[in-house]
Formats: sequence, C-alpha cells, structure tokens
Amino acid sequence: MSLHGDYDAQNIFAQIIRGEAPCYTLYEDEDVLAFLDVFPQSFGHTLVIPKRAAARNILDIDAASLAKVMAVVQRLTRVLIDELEPAGVQVAQFNGAPAGQTVFHLHMHIVPRFEGEKLSVHAGGKASAEELAALQARLLQRIAG
Ligand code: AMP
Repeated sequence: MSLHGDYDAQNIFAQIIRGEAPCYTLYEDEDVLAFLDVFPQSFGHTLVIPKRAAARNILDIDAASLAKVMAVVQRLTRVLIDELEPAGVQVAQFNGAPAGQTVFHLHMHIVPRFEGEKLSVHAGGKASAEELAALQARLLQRIAG
C-alpha cells in the first residue's frame, strides 16, 4: 500500500471503531479510541486512533483531529509510565508500507521501553488473551485512579 490512495472502510481498525472486531480498550471518547496492540513490540504497547477521520495516514487528517489524538497519546504515555515504570517510551507513527505501515487507518504507537529489553518483531507474535486482559485491567485501574 502506498502513501496515497483511498481509505478502505474494511481495515481492522475501522472494524474495531464500528464494534465489529474486538479490542482491549483503554480509553474512548467521541473522537479518539486507544487500545492495546495484540502483537505487542513491548509490554504495554498501546495504539491511539482517530474515530471520526477516515484517515489512512498523517496526510489525511485535519490538524484539530490530530491534536485530539495527540492529547490522548500524551495522557496514556503518562499512565503507562506510572503503571509500568519503563526506562523510556517510544511514540511512533508510520506512513506507507515502505515506512512500516501495515494497517491503513492512522494510528500512533506508544511503546514502553525497558532497560536491556529489545523490541519484539513489528506486528509479530500475538500476546495471550489472558496477558492482554490482565494488563488492560491494570491500566484501566490506573486511569480511574
Ligand atoms: P503499523 O504497522 O504501524 O500499521 O501498525 C499496525 C499495528 O496494529 C501493529 O503494531 C499490529 O501489531 C497492530 N494490530 C494489528 N491488528 C490488530 C488488532 N486486531 N488489535 C490490535 N492491534 C492490532
């Protein structure tokens, strides 16, 4: 998939937004949805997406909607740091397949980094449902508190 093209309303994140596919939700409002990456590159790998913009990548979204996404990215980065105490955090976003994009609905990655731990393969091994559910519960508790 190239940098330019039509938005595919059947992409997995569009299905998640419509409630047609499941996700481990961490945060949702009328504009933004955040959930755990099910093929995490590190413990706590989180994705934040716009709900209303049919945006394949950063070129397709208006600045105000992007700002709403980024406000949630910052908020959840703080939550992940407070709860998981990583040594660092990567915030990343890929545009076009050559840049590493595999799902063509704009999304921000929040990837906690732990001392001495390498990243798992991008979009590689699936985490267990038990691990994801336990992590979701931990982070939701932290968000509520
Ligand atoms: P990108 O390669 O930047 O397009 O990232 C897409 C991300 O979506 C990867 O990190 C995948 O692990 C993740 N992903 C793919 N399908 C799902 C899904 N059903 N639920 C949560 N994360 C997913």
